Amino acid sequence: MQSQKGRFEPTRFEDLTVTIDFRCHSACRFCIVQEGMNYFKGVPFERFKQAVDDNTSAPRYKRVTFTGGEVTLDKSLFDFVAYARESGGFDHIRLQTAGRLLADMDFARRLVDAGIDEFFVSLHGPDAQTQDYISQRKGSFDEAMQGLNNLAKLDVCIMTNTVLTTMNVDVLPQLVDTVGHLPLARMEFWYYLPMEDYADNLGLLPTMKQLIPQLKETIRRAKAKDFGVVVKYVPQCLLGEHGDTIDNAQPDVVIVEDFYEVYPEFACLYEAKCEHSESCLGLHNPYIEKFGWEEDWITPIPRTTPWREPEYGKAIPTDNPTGDDQEAATGHPAWRALVDGVAEKTETQLETMLLDRRNCVYRYVCSDGSSVDIVLTARTSERRALARSHSFNIHYRNVSGDSKDKLQAIIRAAVESVTRRDNGALMLDERKGLVGPDAFRRPKQLG
Ligand code: SF4
Repeated sequence: MQSQKGRFEPTRFEDLTVTIDFRCHSACRFCIVQEGMNYFKGVPFERFKQAVDDNTSAPRYKRVTFTGGEVTLDKSLFDFVAYARESGGFDHIRLQTAGRLLADMDFARRLVDAGIDEFFVSLHGPDAQTQDYISQRKGSFDEAMQGLNNLAKLDVCIMTNTVLTTMNVDVLPQLVDTVGHLPLARMEFWYYLPMEDYADNLGLLPTMKQLIPQLKETIRRAKAKDFGVVVKYVPQCLLGEHGDTIDNAQPDVVIVEDFYEVYPEFACLYEAKCEHSESCLGLHNPYIEKFGWEEDWITPIPRTTPWREPEYGKAIPTDNPTGDDQEAATGHPAWRALVDGVAEKTETQLETMLLDRRNCVYRYVCSDGSSVDIVLTARTSERRALARSHSFNIHYRNVSGDSKDKLQAIIRAAVESVTRRDNGALMLDERKGLVGPDAFRRPKQLG
């Protein structure tokens, strides 16, 4: 068994992920990739070659990960692996897989002989009953376990990946018992990210109250086995002594960057106060919309370094496309009108409004100094937001201060006001570099 020491940390920002294909022989009920199948194709081999060649001439990535769908189904996988291996540019070649085909020892050995030295195997339940229900494929658990047992004989790095949903939350700790005999380098646990079912109509999102005790016990057992543990998309402060397991980093993805554009956005009410807010994402918007901010449980760790306010673009002096200076003195009336009455309704102050080509930012301040930025961006992006109006994605950020109720009231009132008033006359541009009147769709209707 080779040593795994130091294997991950030096390269975690030097990883490249290549999505070969989105087809799969399982049909996991939560599958974010399955949702993505409606949008995306795999990477053409020629484009992959270009990425590898670029990396050979200007080294940047040390690991390449092949993923899908289920990549082991794709006959071209061996061509991709061979090209990566022969380039000599990567220290590690990883496969992300459900592991079912690895139950065939000859096939598993072929993959290893081809040059794959790391296997990231999905395991979503501790037993056939759970896993086969989730994958909707009878026998998939037994196949994956046989695959893992085969890998254990091949002196490769083995990791497991578990998506945290209501379907496995109650049996999570048993997962460690199931794989406890394996020489795992790491177990990863990713909180479910809806990519289409943002309202969680399928009921797959466990509440933090359901999840956290189970997850902490799971981590405790995994650590006792000396497995590395990584948790993604869960508030760091809720994990207490296991907060060290949070790692929300994701590798660069070849070609289908848009795949990540439909990931839900995250927010935390304590962003500006918390020491962890650069590494912790907080809760995702589908969770917040369904269960709330968990503001009474989430606990910021006081910052030891000053909070750096987000930098917005260069402000546009006026929303009057004629460039009339008189208009500039009064700000941006059409944009201001979108939130008319919000300050009065919430007994707060609209301190500043900043309009650049890509954002319209309203900063509200409470009487005790608490503040929040309500941010509008172009709706043309597929990126998820807290809410959407005719033309805009609506977000909030740069939350500061203790007036939680007031801040939440501002956010709600601003969302309601913008969605009600935005009739499509105004727009923002998500492209970089577009200037001036082009930022407006129908300038004559402004004011
Ligand atoms: S307070 Fe917010 S940013 Fe800080 S650890 Fe908790 S969820 Fe993360």
